[in-house]
Amino acid sequence: MCVMLLAHQIRLDPNNVERTYFARAAGTARFAYNWALAEWGRQYAASKTDPASTPPNEAALRRQLNSIKREQFPWMLDVTKCAPQLAIMQLGRAFENFLARRARYPAFRRKGIDDRFAISNDQFEVDGRRIRIPKLGWVRMRETLRFTGHIVSASFSRKADHWYVSIAVDCLDPPLPPAENQGVVGVDLGITHLATLSTGETVDGPKALRRLLGSVRRLSRALARKVKGSRNRAKAKLRLARLHERIAQIRRDGLHQLTTNLTRRFPTIGIEDLNVSGMLRNRRLARTIADMGFGELRRQLQYKAERRGGQIVVVDRWYPSSKTCSGCAHVLAMLDLHQRRWTCPGCGVSHDRDVNAAINLKNIAASSAVTACGGDGAGLARKCKAKPAPEKQESNSKVDYD
Ligand SMILES: [Zn+2]
Repeated sequence: MCVMLLAHQIRLDPNNVERTYFARAAGTARFAYNWALAEWGRQYAASKTDPASTPPNEAALRRQLNSIKREQFPWMLDVTKCAPQLAIMQLGRAFENFLARRARYPAFRRKGIDDRFAISNDQFEVDGRRIRIPKLGWVRMRETLRFTGHIVSASFSRKADHWYVSIAVDCLDPPLPPAENQGVVGVDLGITHLATLSTGETVDGPKALRRLLGSVRRLSRALARKVKGSRNRAKAKLRLARLHERIAQIRRDGLHQLTTNLTRRFPTIGIEDLNVSGMLRNRRLARTIADMGFGELRRQLQYKAERRGGQIVVVDRWYPSSKTCSGCAHVLAMLDLHQRRWTCPGCGVSHDRDVNAAINLKNIAASSAVTACGGDGAGLARKCKAKPAPEKQESNSKVDYD
């Protein structure tokens, strides 16, 4: 049995009445969030000067809003009560993340940018290709829910004027068939190819992207010519937003195809750790990875591998995978950014840069897979970190983030 929290995002097909409801619910959620954020700041300041008053917390703020909303904000009652309540709970989590130094101080939500609201699982119902929303009724979805299990929550959001619902499910699906027995693979993420495998295969990103990126330039120029505040400008803006949305979807799809392909074939996968701050400097990364974030790639690999009983070995990011010879472990002092091939001075073997890096990742994954990750099925947050190879030279510590 696979037990993990998975979310399925589904496009909705709302009619005009439903669209209006969504906009109002999102407006209510935004208002409640911003009200609570302002209140939080005020109460915090008060608690500093007056020791008798308590510092703010989200549960108290929810009770406070509940006690005044009938009087002061009666329009809040037109939509699901979850909209304001869950928004304040989200603010509570935002403050938790801020206090744990995982995030910045929460910002006010803005109309048109943060159009979203959430509903708790006891307040909605999913039936085939429709979802029932309090004070509204059934709304059509474009797909059925992909996962079975205990439904946790639903979040509604607007992107490029399309509405989506993301349904979180504590997945109880039977595990997927185990990966084919193709052994260990190392995956090097790159700019010439989306990914290079230690088998020598290369995986390219979606082909449709280049043409669409051309349209982005065309539409951006069209938008720039429109008069500020005009109806035509709004239309051009939406057209551009829709295009960006489409590009993001194609990229996401490419990433999903890559991670599904890998986890379906290989029980053990070695990848390099590409941290967020490092990524900004890393021109070697394909746009797909750069845009989606390495974290997303890793997240997908990890949950997909877990569903098949496989494992991901994340190799330390200081390990010089590109300039270490996969044959004799000789480490080059330096390897130029654009040098696609190099010949090892130690053993004389000619290397393709990316394939060699992938083979190094594979070797580390193969040697550390069992010891680093054990055989027990750990949770989603499991970190499998391989130790850097012993050959690593400290003098050579200038990172290979080319
Ligand atoms: Zn060599």
